[in-house]
Amino acid sequence: MPAKIIDGKAIAATLREDCAKEAARLVRDHGVTPGLAVVLVGSDPASQVYVRSKGKQTRAAGMASFEHVLPAEVSEADLLAVIDKLNRDPAVHGILVQLPLPKSLDSQKIVAAIDPAKDVDGLHPINAGRLATGLPALTPCTPLGCIILTKSVHASLQGMNAVVIGRSNLVGRPLLQLLLNENATVTIAHSRTRDLASVCRNADLLYAAVGQKEMVRGDWIKPGATVIDIGITRVPGADGKDRLIGDVAYDEALQVAGAITPVPGGVGQMTVACLLVNTLRAASAIHRLPPPKV
Ligand code: NDP
Repeated sequence: MPAKIIDGKAIAATLREDCAKEAARLVRDHGVTPGLAVVLVGSDPASQVYVRSKGKQTRAAGMASFEHVLPAEVSEADLLAVIDKLNRDPAVHGILVQLPLPKSLDSQKIVAAIDPAKDVDGLHPINAGRLATGLPALTPCTPLGCIILTKSVHASLQGMNAVVIGRSNLVGRPLLQLLLNENATVTIAHSRTRDLASVCRNADLLYAAVGQKEMVRGDWIKPGATVIDIGITRVPGADGKDRLIGDVAYDEALQVAGAITPVPGGVGQMTVACLLVNTLRAASAIHRLPPPKV
């Protein structure tokens, strides 16, 4: 029987609706309009698309959206001044600096300048450290989305063997921590892993976050496993528009896995929805209100 297709589009739409309800409740009961500021440096077309989509979805959820577009040649001091202003702005509860930044800027220094309480990308060392030590933290949106998608299939991940391919600060490492919090047994693989295929064959839950199209073949997958494909590679399509290809050979995996996310229509949809979740969490914490019910 072919795998169940995990419908990230539908799950993300429900999550966005839940976020809109929570945002309306914060406005109604506490006079707090959650606000998200996105800072874009330069004119990378993919980043522009992401920033536009984030602004649109933020407004659609009844939250305030602030966009700051700076030229690629902006100085570090000027960018830090924008972040400082947003850190002090009471209307802003979440700050996201769209990555990657131009090479002339030190991303780590810029991310570290964001107030950790407003760090809705969850990349500040304080949030990464809190997550790694099991404390409540704002966590990166893509791994958060991966957990929600997995839990749409398995109510509990306790005791399951999870394999994460990729160890970036953005995806693999925080995903490892979130899976540990769910009491899964986690293996993290990377470019130096020996015999990756047999490591993957042990996975009840397999997460691929590499960026190499169709690297994970059908015979790497344990029959019945849940496969979450995070990777995105853009290839030119016949119609001139880019096509997105995942890290998993989808047609092969469909015959073996128990459940699988498509690309597109899987993890990508969840990332922005989880940004709304994090903005609500940040707004509630800043105003010393109970966490939102999302
Ligand atoms: P990085 O390039 O930062 O990390 C890639 C990871 O893959 C590294 O840990 C690297 O290992 C590992 N890797 C590379 N080649 C191999 C290999 N042959 N075998 C095993 N592991 C390998 O990427 P990101 O984590 O930022 O993103 C990963 C993918 O997810 C990308 O395609 C990106 O576009 C996508 N993505 C999708 C999002 C979404 O919303 N759907 C959001 C964020 C990312 P090593 O550490 O040893 O170099």
